[in-house]
Amino acid sequence: MRGIHLDVAALTTAPVLCYHRVGGPLELGVTRVGRSVFARQMGALARAGWRTLSLDEFARTTHDVRRTFLLTFDDGYASLAEYAYPILADLGFTATTFLITDYVGRTNDWDVRYTWNRLRHLTWQQVEQWRARGFHFASHGATHRRLTWLPDRDVEDELARSREVLVERLGPYAGRAIAYPFGAADGRILRHATAAGYGLGFGGVKGTGEILNLARTPVYLWDVADVPVGLRSDAIGSLGRTVAHVANRCAIGTTIMQVARRRTARPPESIADGAAARA
Ligand SMILES: [Zn+2]
Repeated sequence: MRGIHLDVAALTTAPVLCYHRVGGPLELGVTRVGRSVFARQMGALARAGWRTLSLDEFARTTHDVRRTFLLTFDDGYASLAEYAYPILADLGFTATTFLITDYVGRTNDWDVRYTWNRLRHLTWQQVEQWRARGFHFASHGATHRRLTWLPDRDVEDELARSREVLVERLGPYAGRAIAYPFGAADGRILRHATAAGYGLGFGGVKGTGEILNLARTPVYLWDVADVPVGLRSDAIGSLGRTVAHVANRCAIGTTIMQVARRRTARPPESIADGAAARA
């Protein structure tokens, strides 16, 4: 573990790790990380001198601040409050969680084919409790639709509606950042995000490095070493990020299932399985 650089394109910012589910029931997909793996990784990073950044610090910090990273969670499952946040609080770490705002306090019918079980999302009460303890929350869209496949009016609705509810509930700071569902963003989406009022945007592994399309490395279930590949500067890190990029692309299966559900109006149980990753 020598450096912190994600890759050449991301040299101006600290690396960004992205977890989805931590602990809880097993699933068909690859984005669940076991509680013990998560606890070991965070403990190892803390012992090695790594420190997490708030969104503000991340936006201000350049790459020469060694061993700092932005820790993010997508989707906002309730198990974060049960397993992940307490581990982080014990270590003095913080994190930013990107919420699917229409699903706060509800179960996950948007990706139940992957999780097998109906899982709860965080409630607003839990969000407010953890925000009071120094954790941060931001947007992952209103309904987790792939924005690049939507017409302009739907993109505007997803971006504006989720930002509005975050600002209303949590104040202006919560309306600052968005992580695009599936990491899918292009020039059109970035223009909409700017118009909606976002100042920071997070894409996939191959984010362009623009302030509204920053790269993140997802941590998938095979990423079990003490230092996740997103924080490694060696050949293993490079290979791992390529694998993560491929898995992230495979998340297209979730989108196809969502589209199929909307078209058929059948319950999610009747839709065939897609690819094995979601984002
Ligand atoms: Zn997601």
